[in-house]
Amino acid sequence: MTKRYVVIDLGGTQIRTALATAPNHLHRTIRMETLADQGPDAVLRRIEEASRQVAGDAWSSVEAIGIIAPGPLDPWRGVILEAPNLPGWEDLPLKDRLSSSLGRPVVVGNDANLAALAEQRFGAGQGKPHTIYITVSTGIGGGVIIDGQLLLGARGLAAEVGHMTLEANGPPCTCGNMGCLEALASGPAIARDARAAITAGRESSLLALAGNDPRRITARLVGKAAAAGDSLAIELFQRAGFYIGLGIVNLMNLFNPAIIVIGGGVSQVGDLIFEPIHQTVQARAGHFYWEDCPIVPAALGDDVGLLGALAMVADEFE
Ligand SMILES: [Zn+2]
Repeated sequence: MTKRYVVIDLGGTQIRTALATAPNHLHRTIRMETLADQGPDAVLRRIEEASRQVAGDAWSSVEAIGIIAPGPLDPWRGVILEAPNLPGWEDLPLKDRLSSSLGRPVVVGNDANLAALAEQRFGAGQGKPHTIYITVSTGIGGGVIIDGQLLLGARGLAAEVGHMTLEANGPPCTCGNMGCLEALASGPAIARDARAAITAGRESSLLALAGNDPRRITARLVGKAAAAGDSLAIELFQRAGFYIGLGIVNLMNLFNPAIIVIGGGVSQVGDLIFEPIHQTVQARAGHFYWEDCPIVPAALGDDVGLLGALAMVADEFE
């Protein structure tokens, strides 16, 4: 009989839950706000309710639960070590808490790592066993698939591509380091640089778009201004694309991937960011690395996390 799973994508703003069967079928999906400020106990209760609700009459036949969460986390013990967007989730035994309340085995994984696995299995990386995935949004994360296997590292902390140092004395990062890719090219970094330029007197349509309040500038607004031809906004995406390109040069030299897949909200501006990425990679990496390695947008959209959770739980139980 086909095995049924409940898969969960726990994020800082939203929780998505689905009833699923392997390899990539999501039968029903529900989403709710995380309300992370209510703390872990309340969030866990909402995850439990959502799991039973999405399974409905099929609950009794659910084999196991797969949940992905922001890292850093220990995928073997299923413990969240810390989560900047989930206050109070330090050393939280997610696997044990959910398996005791739901009465099913639970598998836990890092969200960006499993998004990489989903894109390799079902999305843009299909047929390419050496795939690297980078997601650029509020943070920058990723995953490295080598020979079809997700690279986890000794403690499950591998492939934090957003925390490669690219400027030794660059802007501070949420991780405590300076000049990380995330501090240079994430959505908040783009918005920060836009605010700084405008506060320093640079002319831009962004100020009007933000209601004449530089504090209200977001990366989304910068994208809107860039699409309308604003020169500051275009420069900001070129700069972000340059740094993402540098990060990709490092990844190409380390892992020699067959494809690089880029997802996340910031990547949705398209050529505005993909062009400077390509230029940087071709200027700085050996042609052996990039000539057969396309750099493409992600294919799976909002379901990428759920599909990654499904790949993870099915790998263990099928
Ligand atoms: Zn960092």
